[in-house]
Amino acid sequence: MQLTNRSKQVADTKMTWLERIYLPGIFKGMMITLSHAFKKKPTIQYPEQKRAIAPLYRGQHVLKRDDNGAERCTACGLCAVACPAEAITMIAAEREKGQEKLYREEKYASMYEINMLRCIFCGLCEEACPKEAIFLTDRIVPSTTKRKDFIYGKDKLVEKMDQRIDVSVRQTNNLAEFKKNQSFAHNKL
Ligand code: SF4
Ligand code: SF4
Repeated sequence: MQLTNRSKQVADTKMTWLERIYLPGIFKGMMITLSHAFKKKPTIQYPEQKRAIAPLYRGQHVLKRDDNGAERCTACGLCAVACPAEAITMIAAEREKGQEKLYREEKYASMYEINMLRCIFCGLCEEACPKEAIFLTDRIVPSTTKRKDFIYGKDKLVEKMDQRIDVSVRQTNNLAEFKKNQSFAHNKL
């Protein structure tokens, strides 16, 4: 039974002698390859060469310290709640006497991890943080072959005082004004 009239008769024509030796086809392919050899290369030798990226590129996170070197994060958990990829895990601990220089507030994150394989670099953790503690930076998360190496703990996330990371480009005036507004419960934490 014929359902449509779209069927076509396929011609089973024999290949010519030239087509059977494939040389014209090979020559045509070589010419295409050769023509590409003289064009400007679209690829670069990464990581030796790097392309310019947007100033607000969202890459590897940093957990900031304040100017005295104390960790700003108070383990409030807002970043983890805001994270759509459920990439953030932390354990809160109470600051002990004598640790005032290490942690800015009475509570701190004794463990803080971001799973970079889950993270979609949306920046919502940064927006949710009431303490200006977490920021995304223009650093690209390096590739590795082991899944466990993509779990970034405090050793990789917390800023080092001798290698401070400038995040001023991400601290816009609008955001600073919003975070000063104490009428939002978010900013009272
Ligand atoms: S950037 Fe987005 S996905 Fe990544 S940890 Fe922050 S909130 Fe989660
Ligand atoms: S929202 Fe900020 S202060 Fe709260 S746990 Fe996350 S990084 Fe720390």
